[in-house]
Amino acid sequence: MDKIELIGLSKDELQKALTDIGEKPFRAKQLWQWLYYFGETDFEKMSNLSKVLREKLKENFTITRPKIVTEQLSSDKTRKWLLEFADGQRVEMVYIPESDRGAVCISTQVGCAVGCKFCHTGSQKLTRNLTAGEIVSQFMVARDTYGEWPSPTNETRYLSNIVVMGMGEPLHNMENVIKALNILTDGDGIAISRRRITMSTSGIAPRIVEALQKTGVRLAISLHAPNNELRSQIMPINNRYPLEEVLKACQEYQEEDGSRYITFEYLLLDKVNDSLDCAHQLITLMKKYGLRASFNLIPFNPWPGCAFKPSGNAQVKAFARELENAGFAAPVRVARGQDILAACGQLKSKKDSEDKK
Ligand code: SAH
Ligand code: SF4
Repeated sequence: MDKIELIGLSKDELQKALTDIGEKPFRAKQLWQWLYYFGETDFEKMSNLSKVLREKLKENFTITRPKIVTEQLSSDKTRKWLLEFADGQRVEMVYIPESDRGAVCISTQVGCAVGCKFCHTGSQKLTRNLTAGEIVSQFMVARDTYGEWPSPTNETRYLSNIVVMGMGEPLHNMENVIKALNILTDGDGIAISRRRITMSTSGIAPRIVEALQKTGVRLAISLHAPNNELRSQIMPINNRYPLEEVLKACQEYQEEDGSRYITFEYLLLDKVNDSLDCAHQLITLMKKYGLRASFNLIPFNPWPGCAFKPSGNAQVKAFARELENAGFAAPVRVARGQDILAACGQLKSKKDSEDKK
């Protein structure tokens, strides 16, 4: 019989796995703590379990981390890992530190089926979904690297936030993503606060509210255009779920809880979506739907073979000013880790093509 991988099982599933091998259900609590509070990967070191039990666990279960293929540290301390799973598939993960905290950017799929024109991951098509365990274990690798075990208190955490903004569309892998987020936020283990996790979606409208209800994390929408015509050109998914549907879902999400803010990501593409007219249309759209929102203006990261160019500095500033004058926060995301190509999809493709040489 194949051994069962423990990382990625829900609390109930872990309990069942233990009772299936004849153990008492309360053992699940101890084991959960070893896995997710202490980050232990060696059954031998689980010191409050008897030798006999440790042997039995070893015979039946595994605790796996993805393999680190490469790890790069940028001059600005941004760190990037290329991770490989058991079947050889690879994703990347980035850690972006701030002064006293920082965000780990995790992936949810190998490739992506949404096919946004500006996105390198999208140009790679979907290979497969990641399992809940593969999503959770990415973050665990980051914790291994920074030695953040056992789970520190909120105040002393270096890896304090998670952004689900790596490779893949989270709402196309909803079940596994929800399961993973519920493990990452569980108070007896890794215990990242739900308010410190942001999930970004290209706008799979019918799934937005449900995903947020089941996880309690924050929402970011990749908007990137203020009208359907333009959005469909750069994000073909907009033909399926047009702006009205996406923004209605946002409205519904905010109606449930007035304190929820939504972040709209807006990639600035030279002479495509960066005119002041586009900024005005955006403002009108936000007012029409009565959304409490802030913007995140993203400088476009070019990749070999893409048709777009990043907007010039003056245009970025002018665009941000329009939004700010209308009362919206519109910070321009600082490009981090430039020297290690710490942008979606780039390291993975670079390494893959090197490997093929
Ligand atoms: N699939 C989800 C989450 C992953 S992408 C989504 O699309 O929201 C995370 C963010 O990076 C998205 O806002 C995406 O539009 C943006 N992005 C994609 N390609 C980019 C590029 N070349 N330069 C800068 N940002 C990019
Ligand atoms: Fe997929 Fe997001 Fe890239 Fe679009 S931007 S192709 S949704 S990963």
